[in-house]
Amino acid sequence: MAPPAGRAVQRRLRLLQDAAGGWASCQLQVAPSQMKVSVSRGPIFLSGAGHVPPGSGMTTKIIHFMVNGRLEQAEFGADCSAADVKDLFRAAAEAGPHHILKMYNPNGSMLNISPQLEANSEDSYYRLEVVASDLKSVGMPTELNNMESRLNHLESKVIEDVGKTPDIICELKSQVESFKRKLESVEHLSWMGLFKEDGDQQLSKLSPKPKTAQLSVQEERQQVRRKFLNMSSLQVTEEVREHLKTPIFDNWQWEEAEMLVLLQVMFTDLDFLTAFHIKVDVLQNFLFEVYCHYNSIPFHNFRHCFCVTQMMYGLIWLTDLRSKLSRIDLLIMLTSALCHDLDHPGYNNVYQINAQTDLALRYNDISPLENHHCAVAFGILSKPECNILKNVTCEQYKHIRGGMIKCILATDMARHNEILNKFKIMQPVFDFTNKDHKEVLMKIMVKVSDISNEARPMAVAEPWLDCLLQEFFNQSDTEKLKGLPVTPFMDRDKVSKPSSQTNFIRFVLLPLFTELTKLFPCLEQHILEPVRRALEYYSDMERASKEEQGTTKA
Ligand SMILES: [Zn+2]
Repeated sequence: MAPPAGRAVQRRLRLLQDAAGGWASCQLQVAPSQMKVSVSRGPIFLSGAGHVPPGSGMTTKIIHFMVNGRLEQAEFGADCSAADVKDLFRAAAEAGPHHILKMYNPNGSMLNISPQLEANSEDSYYRLEVVASDLKSVGMPTELNNMESRLNHLESKVIEDVGKTPDIICELKSQVESFKRKLESVEHLSWMGLFKEDGDQQLSKLSPKPKTAQLSVQEERQQVRRKFLNMSSLQVTEEVREHLKTPIFDNWQWEEAEMLVLLQVMFTDLDFLTAFHIKVDVLQNFLFEVYCHYNSIPFHNFRHCFCVTQMMYGLIWLTDLRSKLSRIDLLIMLTSALCHDLDHPGYNNVYQINAQTDLALRYNDISPLENHHCAVAFGILSKPECNILKNVTCEQYKHIRGGMIKCILATDMARHNEILNKFKIMQPVFDFTNKDHKEVLMKIMVKVSDISNEARPMAVAEPWLDCLLQEFFNQSDTEKLKGLPVTPFMDRDKVSKPSSQTNFIRFVLLPLFTELTKLFPCLEQHILEPVRRALEYYSDMERASKEEQGTTKA
């Protein structure tokens, strides 16, 4: 299902054009896959006493697992050390010593890779994933530094004896120096996304990026800020700008700093900077603060915020809303999309209310999360250096604040039918000059963008479902632990991937998207058809898994 790698790489390479019109330096292409350890194929055996073939009498267990698209099996003795077991799976995954391995059971829960790993059968195989480590920790710089210090030591000894540095040492030193510079530029280029298209890319979608141990959250954010500011001085190509206006945009190809640049492009290309006298540095501060206020959780994270905003941006262009709504309403919609899940804790309203959290207490059980997201948004805007609304009139500010509150509160799914029904009633006589009509349309647009993953190409959409289920399962696990009522559609014992989606598409997505398509028939091909295809895809999957269960039982 993954898009052809070649094409994607080309698109990435052409992201940033420097001011002079030349491509930003992109000659150096060292894919991390070249650093992978290569192993011979075949069954893999391991025991504490060395390699013991099966049937030799020692108690061993067999683990079936899928890695890099291959079904493999590993067999190891109960007396193996945890490190040996990890090494075994590392070899199977052809992972380097600095890669992080993650193992998931068929329900999507993460398993500890240890000798206690539960044996499984071929049809309940686990999924082994390799998560890329950062280039800095690949180990080469350490070797290089050792070599450099040995050379320095040698040089000082030779100088003691001969009185001057021989040419050969000078030459070696300059070679080490040039290799170090090359490595640095490789690391520098990595954030432009030149290395995305290795096997690890697909995997990194499923779980949040592992935190680099040496970097604190604060340092990591500052690094993103530096990259964002550096990159925003480069020009984003016309090709990317156009692509950004379509629902087929693939969010998985972009890093946080790059997404910030693209958000800046959206504000710029909708002329918000001129219309509302927003200074570029204030917009950048605002976007960066928004980024900092999204949590590292499986689904409701900054990437989700980016996707929702990008879909909103795409819808604005596809439906030519610029000619139908005022600039200020467009600003409300885009900014609401951007802020609609700020500081989401990964547990939904039902949980907040049942667990009587601080948020539920503060907002009296009324849309606690959405109220919080909105309050955080205006908290950010209250800082002068982040206030993109600093130069609007009092009247305009009141309108924007009121609009954003309505749009963000409308994303509470508990109010879904209420809002959709209002829109349905207006539909036959919809009037773009009617204030109430416009207000409902704006809410519908934010809602559509918020739950629009299935309108994207399957390769982009499907990993999001894994992220969502991961967050749901975390919640239901906590609910079970705390003895709270367990939300049925989040229960890992009750929900399967296809069943969760078919019902959601049938009863929530299709009715909502169909209604919006009545107003904008051009959206049929862009969002309705992909959603219908997704329903077919998950229905097939559901049928297949039922048949499979039937066969197993028989
Ligand atoms: Zn959302």
